[in-house]
Amino acid sequence: MIRYSGIGVSPGVAQGPVFRIRRTVVSAPVAASPRQVFAALDAVADDLERRAAAATMDVAREVLEAQSMIARDPALVEAIGARLTDDVEYPDVRESIREAFAGFRAALEALGGYFAERVQDLDEIADRTIDHLAGIEHHATRLTQPSVIVADDLTPADTAALDLDHALALVVAKGGPTSHTAIVARGLGIPAVVGCTGVDGVEDGVLLLVDGREGVALVEATEAERTSRSAREDALRARAAAVTGPGRLADGTPVTLLANAGKVEAVVAAAAAGAEGIGLFRTELLFLERQTEPTVDEQVAMYQAVFAAMAGRRVVVRTIDAGSDKPVPFIPAEAEENPALGVRGWRLNRIDNDVVNRQLQALAIAATSSAADVWVMAPMIATADEARDFAGRARALGIRHVGVMVETPAAALMADKVLGEVDFGSLGTNDLTQYVMAADRLDARLADLTTSWHPAVLRAIQTSARHAQALARPLGVCGEAAADPKLAAVLVGLGVSSLSMSPPALAEVRGFLAQIDRATCVRAAEVAVNAGSEVEAKLAVSDILGE
Ligand code: PEP
Ligand code: MG
Repeated sequence: MIRYSGIGVSPGVAQGPVFRIRRTVVSAPVAASPRQVFAALDAVADDLERRAAAATMDVAREVLEAQSMIARDPALVEAIGARLTDDVEYPDVRESIREAFAGFRAALEALGGYFAERVQDLDEIADRTIDHLAGIEHHATRLTQPSVIVADDLTPADTAALDLDHALALVVAKGGPTSHTAIVARGLGIPAVVGCTGVDGVEDGVLLLVDGREGVALVEATEAERTSRSAREDALRARAAAVTGPGRLADGTPVTLLANAGKVEAVVAAAAAGAEGIGLFRTELLFLERQTEPTVDEQVAMYQAVFAAMAGRRVVVRTIDAGSDKPVPFIPAEAEENPALGVRGWRLNRIDNDVVNRQLQALAIAATSSAADVWVMAPMIATADEARDFAGRARALGIRHVGVMVETPAAALMADKVLGEVDFGSLGTNDLTQYVMAADRLDARLADLTTSWHPAVLRAIQTSARHAQALARPLGVCGEAAADPKLAAVLVGLGVSSLSMSPPALAEVRGFLAQIDRATCVRAAEVAVNAGSEVEAKLAVSDILGE
């Protein structure tokens, strides 16, 4: 049995014959006039629009629409025009087309993270323009039987051209956790593994077993392997479905289960998934697509809609976490050597106080007229002074519950001082992990380092939890770690009182916690913190939790 390991981005177990998607690269010169190049770009944009209109999944449609807009961008046409200046047929236009895209490519790459992953979209538009000129057509791929799709990477147009009704699982050699493959697979609810090096070498038709929870693809797996993985998956899902209501341990200890959201629609979905509230509302997502800052009135309306969807429940709103991989168009950004360590989150106040002040004003107004229990917190706090500054400004406007994200090692180590300034804390384990481990959270190559299972990260959490308990401040977790049931048990054992996660993860965490008691969580936390590595921590915890 050959085993390929990657990052599991959509849980589930599926087995089927491999169907490989291969990309053709035009290797012969492509002669064309500038007019023909522009017409080809237009045709590609038309095609993307058609695919967007036909797309059955919202995420695929959004990505295709975004791509077609890029293909119609006048700046791109201008860049091509600057390279093909004469109205003649050029013997080979491939290089000119790629060069025209290069500036945009470099700009996205420099932004890093999510944006760097979108470079793929640009490459695809360039490739398709060249293909069009070379007369290569892209037909929809019909799968003749249920298959496991394997590729080097999947672009949105690849995915849109696939008949996904027959896709059992997606496995790609490249791609990170925020790649299209991950987004599409989660939308379809099929298992997916990304960053699975070498898997694109597996031949068509070979039987591949995919476990999207563990992040592995197994060639020629035994029947016993398949049934045990499927049984475990089924058991997890059945247990999840069986428990409803507020989060509780087996001994009745409450663990508040909240949802992360960034749009009103997600808040509605969270309510439907039984979330006891919103533990992290990422406001920057409301701003990312805006060329100008929404006015206070506009913001009030946005927040009111969020609060209305969670009437009677807690909504923890985070002030704008712009910068790094989340550049907001109306906030001027300087080039930074290390954006993740730069002016992001609360540090925005160093260059502009007004954006946050207006946001706090809008939040205070919306909270007054709402039936939700509104809590407001600031991201990327590193010092007690920053926490005091935030708390002072928010309280002066009448915001009643003020808190901070604990996501820098400084805030975690100094939680006695930092949390002393506010009413609550929320551990952002995504950033805390990347900063404790000094490993970019979006770099798939460092996935083994960017796990919150690492005892170094757990020790930072333990320190903050002890300080929070001594100060009697509620401390929750709103990073991805909260969505891993076993890790959730460890976090509870370390002393956190609420867990906030993406809505689909709620049922499973609720079901898992319902069958263990507090003493077991504390024992799991102890062994995890004292383990020598993340692998040891996981094994030791699994021993205690019996899975
Ligand atoms: C985190 O860092 O864990 C977090 C929840 O915030 P974000 O993922 O938005 O940075
Ligand atoms: Mg964060």
